[in-house]
Amino acid sequence: MSPKTKSGPELEFAIVGADEAKRYFSKLRPQDLAHGYLFTGPYGVGKKTFARRLAQSLLCEAPKEHALGYDGTCPNCRLVEKKMHPDVIESIGAIKIGDDERRAGFGGEEMTSRDLVRQFSLQSYAGGYRIFIFGDADFASHEAANALLKFFEEPPASVILLVTTATPGRLLPTIRSRLCEVHFSALSRTQIEQILLAEGVSPTEAREAARIGQGSVSRGRAALAADEDTLRDQVIAWFFEVVRGGSPEAIWASRETLEEALETIKTLVRDWSALCIAGKGTPMLAPDLASSIAKLPPLEAADSARILMRLTDAQKLARTNVTPSIVAELVRMHLSGLGVSSGGKTPSRRTASQRQLQDTR
Ligand SMILES: [Zn+2]
Repeated sequence: MSPKTKSGPELEFAIVGADEAKRYFSKLRPQDLAHGYLFTGPYGVGKKTFARRLAQSLLCEAPKEHALGYDGTCPNCRLVEKKMHPDVIESIGAIKIGDDERRAGFGGEEMTSRDLVRQFSLQSYAGGYRIFIFGDADFASHEAANALLKFFEEPPASVILLVTTATPGRLLPTIRSRLCEVHFSALSRTQIEQILLAEGVSPTEAREAARIGQGSVSRGRAALAADEDTLRDQVIAWFFEVVRGGSPEAIWASRETLEEALETIKTLVRDWSALCIAGKGTPMLAPDLASSIAKLPPLEAADSARILMRLTDAQKLARTNVTPSIVAELVRMHLSGLGVSSGGKTPSRRTASQRQLQDTR
């Protein structure tokens, strides 16, 4: 079976899986499009990829009867494929309210609600649709969601919203109710293998990743990448999971790696703290992680000083005969849940109970 679904005589729509969405859009005439769609379904099954291909289909200049299909050769297609089409505006992940002063720009910086409001007011570049893709849509605050609410309720003419999420319950009901929902199912093993083979993965690895992926090609890809993880990557992944309240296994903790790993964790805590005190643009020790760290809630200065002290203690402990996994577990307890938004609770209460836990040890 070819991954290319033919739509029309010469047009293609290269998506594996997404049967329901393909069925829906392949029968839909462009004039019957709703102003917004919500793609729901498990993580890593191709919702964002589908949204991008649909955007390309809608902008492609080749004449066609239905919504799906593009030729891949017209000027619009080329711009979309290079991710440079000014009528495709993509925002991935939690949207922040943003700075009032900043100017709307393309690429690089992540889009804020205020950038998007400006984008919504612009005219179409190519004279057709303007397509807004909100991948893994989420809002960092009520303010950020409210700023965009009226555009979800009544977007300007010729704007199409493509919103994807694995957790539709997190979206405001007012936003969700305005979108036409299309469900994406988990991928079969064969489909995951097919996608990975097309990406150049070897048949043996593709088969193994498809097994581990359990319906998600992203999870399959992550499993392949994990094989090649460096110590730093492992520690970083562990750190973010821990501060978000998880209890991952500290696979990085061995006698040889312990000190270096603790130094990496210190770097992350220092950057997190620096970003909270000095704000965006502050020089960071791990600049490649700036955007991930920026997504964490504020870290209080007192907490960061305390944690850095505990990490220095842990480094001293690492030079003794204590089992590495025990040192890792101690560090995990100090960091646990610091990156979870406090919601209704005050952050100081959470850290106070943590302090209590530590004092009883
Ligand atoms: Zn085209």
